[in-house]
Amino acid sequence: MTVAHPRFATRAVHAARDRETAASRATPIYLTAGFEFDDFDHAADHFRTGAGFGYTRTGNPTVRAVERQLAALESGADAVLVASGQAAVATALLTVAAAGDHIVSSTHIYEGTRGLLLDNLARLDIETTFIDDIADPDAWRSAIRPNTRALFAESIANARNDVLDIRAVSTVGEEFAIPLIVDNTLATPAILRPLEHGAAIVVHSASKFLAGHGSVLGGVIVDDGRFDAEGAGHNAPHLVLPGRGDAPSVFARHGGRARIAYARESVAPRFGASPSPFNAFLIGQGVETLGLRVERQSRSALQIARWLEEHPEVESVDYVGLPSHPDHATANRYLEGGFGSVFTFTLRGGLPAARRFVEQVQVFTHMTHLGDVRSLVLHPGTTSHAQRTEQEREGLGVRAGTLRLSVGIEDLDDLLSDLAQVLEGVRETVA
Ligand SMILES: *Cc1c(COP(=O)(O)O)cnc(C)c1O
Repeated sequence: MTVAHPRFATRAVHAARDRETAASRATPIYLTAGFEFDDFDHAADHFRTGAGFGYTRTGNPTVRAVERQLAALESGADAVLVASGQAAVATALLTVAAAGDHIVSSTHIYEGTRGLLLDNLARLDIETTFIDDIADPDAWRSAIRPNTRALFAESIANARNDVLDIRAVSTVGEEFAIPLIVDNTLATPAILRPLEHGAAIVVHSASKFLAGHGSVLGGVIVDDGRFDAEGAGHNAPHLVLPGRGDAPSVFARHGGRARIAYARESVAPRFGASPSPFNAFLIGQGVETLGLRVERQSRSALQIARWLEEHPEVESVDYVGLPSHPDHATANRYLEGGFGSVFTFTLRGGLPAARRFVEQVQVFTHMTHLGDVRSLVLHPGTTSHAQRTEQEREGLGVRAGTLRLSVGIEDLDDLLSDLAQVLEGVRETVA
């Protein structure tokens, strides 16, 4: 500082400015709104090229570290971290679609995403056609129109545990130069990496398995970096045509990474769902143990599903790890090292049994969340799927006695004892 004797108010805000440099092993949390420029040209260069860090909404070293980590785990070229899973889905869709465009989506998707498509994007004149039989490539193909800009589905869907045949659906997309966007929240890259099977973009709610601790919200968009201007430019004029003031196109500046560059430069920072660097740090910490958690959770989930399938109070179990599940063969083709740990099962005793169940569990926690280290339970019929009609719920595998479990990392025997004591109570209630 050049002022010889700074006074109290000046010292209060500037005395800590001289920093030690240290090779921190953990990613430092750059909890700052902005970054000091080295000099005049540095500022001008940053604004001209976007290189380096200027303001946290457009880039932050802690956030960047987590983006690199997640891109690497999903076998992607690059990633953009945002404030929630909803923001990730919205950002991905607004990166590929504009007013007058059309999306084809699986109907077996997270209710918040369905609402985004039906209410919000519809108001922006982006229309969606929903596919029920997602295993049938012709169902996807026949829904595609000249203005279709994306196919959207979840790799493992709630509540029926359908597993997407990513190769088949992405192949349909390629026929029309349309990217397949996969929400990989329930599977996680620990057991499935959709970009390795032909998907173009992966999105996640990082609030779930990626963080794992249930302490923060976050979302991520990962792109394969294989945007092909020649083959797909007609479906993405915003990427291949010159920008405002005749600026070079996004493709001219970023090549195959044009899509994710557009998401980073134009969609995420403008709509503004920026992640806190503090939350980014916590997500990065969680991701380090993702493989261990998912392995344990998948193993326990399979044991629990097998146990439930044998229980007299249980009518059915929709877990793709069981040979009885219609998508079991597809799951064997796509999932490596486990079948995930979020699934539903249905009690014979209907609503009274389900009510009793959620009110009696002790090790399981009754809440609307999943992918946590803690085991969780929710009654979809009166919560996540309450806005669907009864007929829709039936088709989606949600009945009055259906419960959703998200299996955590607790000791398996304690989880089974909890289920056994609750189901004993259920039997007495219903009898
Ligand atoms: C939770 C969830 C979302 C939304 O994520 P948030 O982080 O809650 O905004 C999207 N898709 C799936 C599959 C989810 O489970």
